[in-house]
Amino acid sequence: MTDIWIMRIGHRPQRDKRVTTHVALSSRALGAKGIYVDTADNVLEGNIKSVVERFGGDFEIRTGVNWKDIIKNFDGIVVHLTMYGQRFDEALEKIPSDKNMIIIVGAEKVPPEVYERADMNVSVGNQPHSEIAALSIFMDRLTGGKALYESRNGRFNVIPNERGKTVVEISR
Ligand code: SAM
Repeated sequence: MTDIWIMRIGHRPQRDKRVTTHVALSSRALGAKGIYVDTADNVLEGNIKSVVERFGGDFEIRTGVNWKDIIKNFDGIVVHLTMYGQRFDEALEKIPSDKNMIIIVGAEKVPPEVYERADMNVSVGNQPHSEIAALSIFMDRLTGGKALYESRNGRFNVIPNERGKTVVEISR
C-alpha cells in the first residue's frame, strides 16, 4: 500500500480538540502514515504520540505547519474531502494505486484556494456531515480496511474478544 497522509486545515485548539483528535485516531486506525495540522497544538501532539507509544505503529503527527508548503512539496495526489466534490465512488476509479496521497479535511470553512490546489475535490455524499465520518468512509473504501486488524507491535495488544476486554502487555 502507498502512503496516506492527512492534512487538517482550520484546527482551533480549544474548539476542535476532540474532533481533530478523532480525525487523527481514525486515520491511524485505517492505516495513514501521519497527520499534519495547520495550527500548533502541543496537547494534541502529546495525546496522539501517547497512543502511538502504547498501541504501536509509526504514525506521525506534526502541528503548526503551512498547508500550502506541505502540498507544494508533496509527491503524490492531493485529495480534498468536501460535500461539494465529485462522487467518491467515481473518484476512486480514477486514482492510480501506485501514488502516495494526502487527504485534506477542514474544520471550519476552508479557503477557496484549497479547492484550486487540490488534484481532486471529492465528496462522501453531497450532504454536510462529519470530517471523521467522511475520512473514515473514504479511507475504508480506498484501502479495503486492510489496516484495521494489522499488528502494530505496540506495548499493548488488544485481542479480539466476543465478551469483555483482553489486553496483552508486552514487556520489552
Ligand atoms: N461548513 C464547512 C464548509 O462549508 O466547508 C464544512 C464543515 S465540515 C463539519 C468539516 C469538514 O468535513 C469539511 O471541510 C470536509 O472536509 C468534511 N466533510 C463534511 N461533509 C462532507 C461530505 N459530505 N463529503 C466529504 N467531506 C465532508
